[in-house]
Amino acid sequence: MYTDASGFIEYVPGDAPLVIVAPHGGTLSPAGLPDRSCAGCTTVNDLNTQELARTLVEEFRQRTGARPHLIVNRLHRRKFDGNRDLAEATGGTATLNASWTWLHAAIDSAKAGVARRSTRGLVIDLHGHAHPIARLELGYLLGDAELRATDATLAAGGAMSRSSVARLAADTRTVDDRGVTLLRGPRSLGALLAAEGIRSVPSPTDPAPLVGEEYFNGGYNTQRHGSLAGGSLDAIQIECHLTGVRDSEGNRAQFARALTTALRTYFTVHYGWTGPSS
Ligand SMILES: [Zn+2]
Repeated sequence: MYTDASGFIEYVPGDAPLVIVAPHGGTLSPAGLPDRSCAGCTTVNDLNTQELARTLVEEFRQRTGARPHLIVNRLHRRKFDGNRDLAEATGGTATLNASWTWLHAAIDSAKAGVARRSTRGLVIDLHGHAHPIARLELGYLLGDAELRATDATLAAGGAMSRSSVARLAADTRTVDDRGVTLLRGPRSLGALLAAEGIRSVPSPTDPAPLVGEEYFNGGYNTQRHGSLAGGSLDAIQIECHLTGVRDSEGNRAQFARALTTALRTYFTVHYGWTGPSS
């Protein structure tokens, strides 16, 4: 386990083709650091998402024999936001510039490790939302209005090339799933989660948020660390509802089991990865 010089950012290297980032679950709130005061800045944490990330890493390791890379922002969001550009992340506190740089260098290092060992892989930026509908929001950088279009319209408009899974949409091992099918087709992450009893959008049953429904479609990390601009790793932002998913240790463990089951299939079907020896 490594941390930056201040101890605010943590990186636990792994050997799985999976990188998990927990940018909004920090608890440290040093008195010497000013609160972020940027206009419009969100300073509310995503409750228990650091714990959820650690549980997910452990579950995935036990089930597959390979440990996901883990990057944790330990600072409370009122001090530092691990899913924003430099200015908004630090709120102008220059002493945090090095932590921001280290955070993204750690993710880059994890991605390089995946690329060396497994060639292809996935970054999950793990969050929690407080929207009224109890479902996961899977963010691929495509907005709610765009998702409401038909698959044919999305395909005709080249939507997947503007997504955080642009590369996987072109090269998934399951040829039938290439393109828009990767979003809400039978082997999309939303479909695999539904098979485990977890409702998600987009998915076959919830292909898009309806007009007026709140939806997070991905943020800074999903843009920067996915395959929008190429590279070896795709990215999906997973925004979790609270109740039954991250509100208690037992529910976090249960959700981690379900998500791991879905991810194992996802890695097999789309990346051709079935375990440490493959
Ligand atoms: Zn968040």
